[in-house]
Amino acid sequence: MDVEELIKPFRITDGSRFRLTDIDPDDTRGSKLKDQSDELLAQEVQQLSKLQDMLYAQDRWSVLLIFQAMDAAGKDGVIKHVMSGVNPQGCQVVSFKVPSDEELDHDYMWRALRQLPERGRIGIFNRSYYEEALVVRVHPGILAKQKLPRKLVTDDIWKERFEDMKAAERYLSRNGTVILKFFLHVSKKEQKKRFLARMDDPEKNWKFSAGDVSERQRWDDYMAAYEDVIRNTSAPHAPWFAVPSDKKWFSRLVVAAAVIDALQGLDLHYPEIDEPQRKELAQAREVLMHEP
Ligand code: AMP
Ligand code: MG
Repeated sequence: MDVEELIKPFRITDGSRFRLTDIDPDDTRGSKLKDQSDELLAQEVQQLSKLQDMLYAQDRWSVLLIFQAMDAAGKDGVIKHVMSGVNPQGCQVVSFKVPSDEELDHDYMWRALRQLPERGRIGIFNRSYYEEALVVRVHPGILAKQKLPRKLVTDDIWKERFEDMKAAERYLSRNGTVILKFFLHVSKKEQKKRFLARMDDPEKNWKFSAGDVSERQRWDDYMAAYEDVIRNTSAPHAPWFAVPSDKKWFSRLVVAAAVIDALQGLDLHYPEIDEPQRKELAQAREVLMHEP
Protein backbone atom coordinates (compact mmCIF):
# COMPACT_ATOMS: atom_id res chain seq x y z
CA MET A 1 0.00 0.00 0.00
CA ASP A 2 1.19 3.49 -0.88
CA VAL A 3 0.96 5.42 2.39
CA GLU A 4 1.66 8.76 0.75
CA GLU A 5 -1.21 8.20 -1.69
CA LEU A 6 -3.60 7.24 1.12
CA ILE A 7 -3.01 10.30 3.29
CA LYS A 8 -2.58 12.99 0.63
CA PRO A 9 -6.26 13.99 0.31
CA PHE A 10 -6.60 14.45 4.06
CA ARG A 11 -3.35 16.18 5.02
CA ILE A 12 -3.60 19.95 5.54
CA THR A 13 -0.35 21.87 5.70
CA ASP A 14 -1.85 25.21 4.71
CA GLY A 15 -5.33 25.76 6.10
CA SER A 16 -6.17 29.03 4.40
CA ARG A 17 -8.55 27.45 1.91
CA PHE A 18 -9.68 24.51 4.01
CA ARG A 19 -13.40 23.72 4.17
CA LEU A 20 -14.68 20.94 6.38
CA THR A 21 -17.34 20.20 3.77
CA ASP A 22 -14.52 19.13 1.41
CA ILE A 23 -14.09 16.03 3.57
CA ASP A 24 -16.79 13.37 3.44
CA PRO A 25 -16.82 11.45 6.74
CA ASP A 26 -17.92 8.36 4.84
CA ASP A 27 -15.12 8.55 2.24
CA THR A 28 -13.17 5.31 1.87
CA ARG A 29 -11.40 6.06 -1.43
CA GLY A 30 -13.82 3.87 -3.34
CA SER A 31 -13.60 1.03 -0.81
CA LYS A 32 -10.79 -0.66 -2.78
CA LEU A 33 -9.05 -1.40 0.50
CA LYS A 34 -12.01 -2.69 2.47
CA ASP A 35 -11.58 -6.41 1.85
CA GLN A 36 -7.94 -6.38 2.82
CA SER A 37 -8.22 -3.77 5.57
CA ASP A 38 -7.32 -6.13 8.43
CA GLU A 39 -4.29 -7.39 6.59
CA LEU A 40 -3.20 -3.89 5.58
CA LEU A 41 -3.52 -2.57 9.12
CA ALA A 42 -1.49 -5.51 10.41
CA GLN A 43 1.25 -4.64 7.90
CA GLU A 44 1.17 -1.00 8.98
CA VAL A 45 1.35 -1.94 12.64
CA GLN A 46 4.41 -4.06 11.94
CA GLN A 47 6.07 -1.26 9.97
CA LEU A 48 5.34 1.18 12.78
CA SER A 49 6.82 -1.16 15.31
CA LYS A 50 10.11 -1.31 13.38
CA LEU A 51 10.26 2.44 12.90
CA GLN A 52 9.51 3.07 16.57
CA ASP A 53 12.30 0.71 17.58
CA MET A 54 14.75 2.86 15.64
CA LEU A 55 13.22 6.09 16.92
CA TYR A 56 13.80 4.85 20.47
CA ALA A 57 17.32 3.60 19.84
CA GLN A 58 18.36 6.79 18.05
CA ASP A 59 16.96 8.94 20.86
CA ARG A 60 16.88 12.21 18.92
CA TRP A 61 13.39 12.88 17.58
CA SER A 62 10.19 12.72 19.56
CA VAL A 63 6.74 12.30 18.06
CA LEU A 64 3.57 13.96 19.29
CA LEU A 65 0.25 12.67 17.99
CA ILE A 66 -2.77 14.81 18.83
CA PHE A 67 -6.28 13.39 18.55
CA GLN A 68 -9.38 15.55 18.52
CA ALA A 69 -12.90 14.52 17.61
CA MET A 70 -16.56 14.61 18.49
CA ASP A 71 -17.72 11.91 20.91
CA ALA A 72 -17.86 8.37 19.53
CA ALA A 73 -15.70 9.23 16.51
CA GLY A 74 -13.34 6.42 17.47
CA LYS A 75 -10.33 8.12 19.10
CA ASP A 76 -9.83 5.39 21.65
CA GLY A 77 -10.14 2.63 19.05
CA VAL A 78 -7.69 4.32 16.69
CA ILE A 79 -5.15 4.74 19.49
CA LYS A 80 -5.60 1.13 20.59
CA HIS A 81 -5.33 -0.41 17.13
CA VAL A 82 -2.71 1.80 15.52
CA MET A 83 -0.36 1.60 18.49
CA SER A 84 -0.97 -2.09 19.18
CA GLY A 85 2.46 -3.17 17.92
CA VAL A 86 4.43 -0.42 19.57
CA ASN A 87 6.69 -1.16 22.52
CA PRO A 88 4.93 0.34 25.59
CA GLN A 89 8.33 1.50 26.84
CA GLY A 90 8.60 3.96 23.96
CA CYS A 91 5.09 5.31 24.08
CA GLN A 92 2.79 7.27 26.35
CA VAL A 93 -0.89 8.23 26.16
CA VAL A 94 -2.30 11.21 28.02
CA SER A 95 -6.04 12.01 28.12
CA PHE A 96 -7.04 15.57 28.81
CA LYS A 97 -10.28 16.00 30.71
CA VAL A 98 -12.06 19.01 32.20
CA PRO A 99 -9.21 20.99 33.82
CA SER A 100 -8.76 20.57 37.57
CA ASP A 101 -8.51 23.47 40.03
CA GLU A 102 -4.75 23.10 40.01
CA GLU A 103 -4.67 23.18 36.20
CA LEU A 104 -6.90 26.27 36.10
CA ASP A 105 -4.38 28.00 38.33
CA HIS A 106 -1.95 27.92 35.39
CA ASP A 107 -1.93 28.99 31.76
CA TYR A 108 -3.81 26.52 29.56
CA MET A 109 -0.70 25.07 27.94
CA TRP A 110 0.84 24.14 31.27
CA ARG A 111 -0.73 20.73 31.69
CA ALA A 112 0.10 19.75 28.11
CA LEU A 113 3.68 20.96 28.10
CA ARG A 114 4.59 18.86 31.13
CA GLN A 115 3.32 15.74 29.37
CA LEU A 116 5.32 16.10 26.15
CA PRO A 117 7.13 12.98 24.95
CA GLU A 118 10.84 12.66 25.61
CA ARG A 119 13.25 12.18 22.73
CA GLY A 120 12.92 8.71 21.28
CA ARG A 121 9.32 8.36 22.32
CA ILE A 122 5.87 8.67 20.83
CA GLY A 123 3.44 10.73 22.91
CA ILE A 124 -0.26 10.56 22.25
CA PHE A 125 -2.62 13.32 23.35
CA ASN A 126 -6.19 12.07 23.59
CA ARG A 127 -7.65 15.61 23.37
CA SER A 128 -5.26 18.47 23.94
CA TYR A 129 -4.86 22.22 24.26
CA TYR A 130 -7.02 22.45 21.15
CA GLU A 131 -10.04 21.97 23.45
CA GLU A 132 -9.30 25.58 24.40
CA ALA A 133 -10.58 26.63 20.98
CA LEU A 134 -13.27 23.93 20.69
CA VAL A 135 -15.34 23.11 23.78
CA VAL A 136 -14.29 26.39 25.39
CA ARG A 137 -15.32 28.34 22.31
CA VAL A 138 -18.66 26.56 21.96
CA HIS A 139 -19.42 27.18 25.65
CA PRO A 140 -18.47 30.75 26.62
CA GLY A 141 -19.40 29.89 30.21
CA ILE A 142 -16.25 27.74 30.44
CA LEU A 143 -14.08 30.66 29.40
CA ALA A 144 -15.80 32.89 31.95
CA LYS A 145 -14.84 30.40 34.70
CA GLN A 146 -11.17 30.33 33.69
CA LYS A 147 -9.14 32.57 35.92
CA LEU A 148 -7.90 34.87 33.18
CA PRO A 149 -7.47 38.56 33.97
CA ARG A 150 -10.63 40.16 32.61
CA LYS A 151 -8.90 42.69 30.36
CA LEU A 152 -7.09 39.92 28.48
CA VAL A 153 -10.34 38.34 27.35
CA THR A 154 -11.17 40.27 24.19
CA ASP A 155 -12.84 39.49 20.88
CA ASP A 156 -9.39 38.53 19.59
CA ILE A 157 -8.98 35.67 22.06
CA TRP A 158 -9.44 32.84 19.54
CA LYS A 159 -7.10 34.43 17.05
CA GLU A 160 -4.57 34.89 19.84
CA ARG A 161 -4.95 31.30 20.96
CA PHE A 162 -4.35 30.08 17.41
CA GLU A 163 -1.21 32.21 17.22
CA ASP A 164 0.05 30.89 20.53
CA MET A 165 -0.64 27.25 19.66
CA LYS A 166 1.12 27.70 16.33
CA ALA A 167 4.09 29.36 17.99
CA ALA A 168 4.35 26.58 20.59
CA GLU A 169 4.28 23.94 17.86
CA ARG A 170 6.87 25.73 15.77
CA TYR A 171 9.12 25.94 18.82
CA LEU A 172 8.69 22.24 19.55
CA SER A 173 9.30 21.25 15.95
CA ARG A 174 12.54 23.24 15.93
CA ASN A 175 13.60 21.15 18.92
CA GLY A 176 12.97 17.83 17.24
CA THR A 177 9.35 17.11 18.06
CA VAL A 178 7.42 15.78 15.08
CA ILE A 179 3.79 16.87 15.45
CA LEU A 180 0.82 15.26 13.72
CA LYS A 181 -2.72 16.35 14.51
CA PHE A 182 -5.75 14.25 13.72
CA PHE A 183 -9.36 15.34 13.52
CA LEU A 184 -11.42 12.17 13.29
CA HIS A 185 -14.35 13.39 11.26
CA VAL A 186 -17.51 11.41 11.97
CA SER A 187 -20.95 12.37 10.60
CA LYS A 188 -23.83 13.35 12.85
CA LYS A 189 -25.78 10.39 11.53
CA GLU A 190 -23.03 7.89 12.34
CA GLN A 191 -22.57 9.40 15.80
CA LYS A 192 -26.26 8.76 16.53
CA LYS A 193 -25.85 5.14 15.48
CA ARG A 194 -22.85 4.71 17.78
CA PHE A 195 -24.59 6.43 20.70
CA LEU A 196 -27.55 4.07 20.32
CA ALA A 197 -25.18 1.10 20.27
CA ARG A 198 -23.61 2.37 23.48
CA MET A 199 -27.04 2.55 25.08
CA ASP A 200 -28.14 -0.87 23.89
CA ASP A 201 -25.02 -2.90 24.63
CA PRO A 202 -24.34 -3.40 28.37
CA GLU A 203 -20.62 -3.72 27.64
CA LYS A 204 -20.69 -0.29 26.01
CA ASN A 205 -22.94 1.50 28.53
CA TRP A 206 -19.93 2.87 30.40
CA LYS A 207 -18.81 4.78 27.33
CA PHE A 208 -21.95 6.88 27.27
CA SER A 209 -22.57 9.96 29.34
CA ALA A 210 -25.72 12.09 29.26
CA GLY A 211 -23.68 15.19 28.44
CA ASP A 212 -22.74 13.64 25.10
CA VAL A 213 -26.28 14.15 23.78
CA SER A 214 -26.35 17.81 24.78
CA GLU A 215 -22.99 18.39 23.05
CA ARG A 216 -24.54 16.85 19.97
CA GLN A 217 -27.15 19.62 19.97
CA ARG A 218 -24.29 22.03 19.34
CA TRP A 219 -23.03 20.06 16.34
CA ASP A 220 -22.87 22.96 13.89
CA ASP A 221 -21.04 25.18 16.36
CA TYR A 222 -18.49 22.43 16.91
CA MET A 223 -18.01 21.93 13.17
CA ALA A 224 -17.44 25.66 12.73
CA ALA A 225 -14.93 25.63 15.59
CA TYR A 226 -13.07 22.62 14.14
CA GLU A 227 -12.94 24.23 10.72
CA ASP A 228 -11.53 27.42 12.19
CA VAL A 229 -8.92 25.48 14.20
CA ILE A 230 -7.76 23.60 11.11
CA ARG A 231 -7.78 26.73 8.94
CA ASN A 232 -5.64 28.61 11.44
CA THR A 233 -3.24 26.08 12.89
CA SER A 234 -2.19 23.86 9.98
CA ALA A 235 1.46 24.08 9.06
CA PRO A 236 3.99 21.96 7.17
CA HIS A 237 5.73 21.12 10.46
CA ALA A 238 2.43 20.46 12.28
CA PRO A 239 -0.18 19.33 9.75
CA TRP A 240 -3.77 18.50 10.53
CA PHE A 241 -5.26 15.36 9.07
CA ALA A 242 -9.04 15.54 8.61
CA VAL A 243 -9.70 11.81 8.65
CA PRO A 244 -12.99 10.38 7.36
CA SER A 245 -14.12 8.29 10.32
CA ASP A 246 -17.57 6.87 9.61
CA LYS A 247 -15.78 3.64 8.74
CA LYS A 248 -13.49 2.67 11.57
CA TRP A 249 -11.29 0.45 9.42
CA PHE A 250 -10.58 3.37 7.08
CA SER A 251 -9.72 5.92 9.78
CA ARG A 252 -7.29 3.44 11.33
CA LEU A 253 -5.53 2.82 8.01
CA VAL A 254 -5.18 6.56 7.38
CA VAL A 255 -3.85 7.40 10.83
CA ALA A 256 -1.31 4.57 10.75
CA ALA A 257 -0.22 5.63 7.26
CA ALA A 258 0.28 9.22 8.40
CA VAL A 259 2.50 8.18 11.30
CA ILE A 260 4.52 5.81 9.08
CA ASP A 261 4.97 8.50 6.45
CA ALA A 262 6.21 11.00 9.03
CA LEU A 263 8.64 8.52 10.60
CA GLN A 264 9.94 7.49 7.18
CA GLY A 265 10.72 11.14 6.51
CA LEU A 266 13.16 11.24 9.43
CA ASP A 267 16.75 10.07 9.25
CA LEU A 268 16.06 7.15 11.57
CA HIS A 269 18.82 4.61 12.04
CA TYR A 270 20.31 2.56 14.84
CA PRO A 271 23.20 4.32 16.56
CA GLU A 272 26.57 3.14 15.23
CA ILE A 273 29.50 2.56 17.52
CA ASP A 274 32.92 4.14 17.03
CA GLU A 275 36.34 2.48 16.93
CA PRO A 276 37.15 2.60 20.70
CA GLN A 277 33.69 1.15 21.45
CA ARG A 278 34.28 -1.58 18.88
CA LYS A 279 37.52 -2.52 20.65
CA GLU A 280 35.73 -2.58 23.98
CA LEU A 281 33.11 -4.86 22.51
CA ALA A 282 35.82 -7.22 21.19
CA GLN A 283 37.51 -7.31 24.58
CA ALA A 284 34.26 -8.05 26.38
CA ARG A 285 33.65 -10.87 23.93
CA GLU A 286 37.06 -12.33 24.74
CA VAL A 287 36.27 -12.22 28.45
CA LEU A 288 32.95 -14.01 27.89
CA MET A 289 34.52 -16.65 25.65
CA HIS A 290 37.24 -17.43 28.17
CA GLU A 291 35.01 -17.76 31.20
CA PRO A 292 35.95 -20.85 33.11
P1 AMP B 1 -13.92 12.16 27.67
O1 AMP B 1 -12.49 12.21 27.28
O2 AMP B 1 -14.87 12.07 26.53
O3 AMP B 1 -14.22 11.19 28.74
O4 AMP B 1 -14.28 13.58 28.34
C1 AMP B 1 -13.39 14.58 28.56
C2 AMP B 1 -14.16 15.86 28.63
O5 AMP B 1 -13.29 16.90 29.04
C3 AMP B 1 -14.75 16.28 27.30
O6 AMP B 1 -16.11 16.57 27.45
C4 AMP B 1 -13.96 17.52 26.96
O7 AMP B 1 -14.72 18.46 26.25
C5 AMP B 1 -13.57 18.03 28.31
N1 AMP B 1 -12.39 18.90 28.24
C6 AMP B 1 -11.15 18.57 27.82
N2 AMP B 1 -10.33 19.64 27.84
C7 AMP B 1 -11.07 20.67 28.30
C8 AMP B 1 -10.80 22.04 28.54
N3 AMP B 1 -9.59 22.56 28.32
N4 AMP B 1 -11.80 22.80 29.02
C9 AMP B 1 -13.02 22.28 29.25
N5 AMP B 1 -13.34 21.00 29.03
C10 AMP B 1 -12.39 20.20 28.57
MG1 MG C 1 -16.78 11.22 26.45
